[in-house]
This record gives sequence, C-alpha cells and structure tokens, in this order.
Amino acid sequence: MERMNLKGSRIVLTGGATGIGRATAIHCATLGAGVVVADINEVDGDSCVSQIKKLGGEAWFIKTDVSIESDVRNLMSESYRYLGGIDSLVTAAGIARDSMVPVEDLLEEVWDSTIDINLKGSFLAAKHAVPSMKENGRGVIVMIASGAGVTSASSTVSYGASKGGVNGLGMTLAAKLRDHGIRVNVLCPGSITTPLKLGIIERQVASLGEGARVANSDLGDPVGVAKIISFLISDDADYIRGAVFTR
Ligand code: NAD
Repeated sequence: MERMNLKGSRIVLTGGATGIGRATAIHCATLGAGVVVADINEVDGDSCVSQIKKLGGEAWFIKTDVSIESDVRNLMSESYRYLGGIDSLVTAAGIARDSMVPVEDLLEEVWDSTIDINLKGSFLAAKHAVPSMKENGRGVIVMIASGAGVTSASSTVSYGASKGGVNGLGMTLAAKLRDHGIRVNVLCPGSITTPLKLGIIERQVASLGEGARVANSDLGDPVGVAKIISFLISDDADYIRGAVFTR
C-alpha cells in the first residue's frame, strides 16, 4: 500500500507534550509535516520536539496555556511565522480532575478549570487558527473529545460535560466552516495508555479496588490514535465529516 504523505503540511497541535498529542506530533512529522507543539508542559514539549528533530523532522515548541486567549493568539501568530501558514489544527490539550468525586462534592474550581482547558481551549485554538485557513481557502481541524459525554457516561463529572461540549463545538464549526473549505472532525478515542488515563484508573482503583485495574486492562497505544488523526488530516480523508470513534 502507498504510504500516506503529509509533506509540506503545516500543523499546530495543542497538548503535544505527552500522550496522544505527542504521538500525533511525532507521527505527522515522520510523514513530512512541519509541526508546532503547544503545551503548558515545557519539559516534555521540548523533548517531543527534540525527538522529532532527531528523526529528521521539523518541529517547534511554543509554551501555551490553551485556556488563556493571549497565549493562544501568540501561539497561532508564532506558528504562522514558523510555518508560513496553518493547514491543520489538532486540539489534544485536556485534563480530567477529580474522577469519582460525586457531583455534590465537586468543587466549582475543578469544574471551571476543566471547562476552561478542554472546551474553551478548543474554541480559542479554532478561533485563532481559522483566519489562516480561510486565507488559504482550505484547512482541517481535528478536535479530540471522548466517548465520555458523547456516547456514554464518564467517571468524571466535569470531564464528561466538557467533552460533550467539544463534540457540539466541532459539529457546529463543521457546518459553519464547510463553505470555506475547512473540514472539522471530532475524534473520540477509546481508552488509551496516557498519563491522563492512567491517572483516572489510579483514582478508580483507590475508590473501587483492584477490580477497576482489571476492567481497564485493554488500553490502546497512543500511536494507533495518531495514525487515525494523521489520516483525518490528509487529503485522503476528504469525505469524512462528523465524529470518529476509535477503540
Ligand atoms: P495527556 O495527559 O498525556 O495529554 C494531555 C496534554 O494536555 C498534556 O501534555 C498536558 O500537559 C496538556 N495540557 C493540560 N492542560 C493544558 C493547558 N492548560 N494548556 C495546554 N496544554 C495543556 O493525556 P491524553 O490522554 O493524551 O489526552 C489527549 C486528549 O485525548 C485529551 O483531550 C483527552 O481528554 C483525550 N482523551 C483521552 C483518552 C484516553 O484514554 N487517554 C480517551 C478519550 C479522550
């Protein structure tokens, strides 16, 4: 089979320091894309970029808190400067705090930070990436939501709510941006081995016992999700519209 090619593709990726975002940045760079990795985690963000460069790829790290508009505005203008434009945006930045905490005990601060990073962060990234895409008359946005809050419940109240919001945001932008040649897809990964998921499992184990670990024993590899995202970004995925569910 012919190997997919992202040569010349210019990608901005939030949450690229670890997990699914990192795997996606590395995979897309090995397919020829130039990648800007944005994250609050500077140490792992820098190491992601170093890994890409060692593999012969092109990447930059820009420290960004996706919940702060001035950070995101700076991210996109710097990305434009480094890459010469923005063809694709992947929003992978996310948190899941206070898993297993009952709704009556959930702190307002936890709710606010989760919505701010997961939902508002996705909105801000789209808001500031879209002008470059409109200028090109084409673009791709992949927003990472989750089955949690989209097709099923979540162990984490604010997380499930935020991901339902991301799905709604993605569907809305898909319709609004279609006439500008911009494709928007929402990706809902299943359970994948990442720091975020492993943290949730540890809290489930603390609350429910070791059985929770067994129930979560079949986790996917972030690289598997990265391959799906790289396909969604590519021109080969031109006919895909809507939410895509992985394992
Ligand atoms: P992860 O913790 O490895 O990655 C999340 C990244 O987001 C980290 O690098 C983190 O530093 C970054 N981040 C957190 N707050 C930020 C902020 N304010 N600004 C910028 N970056 C910030 O976990 P992951 O599982 O790879 O998560 C990636 C995405 O996939 C998340 O949106 C998550 O909700 C989603 N997801 C994961 C799973 C899973 O099973 N791992 C399942 C469904 C959805």
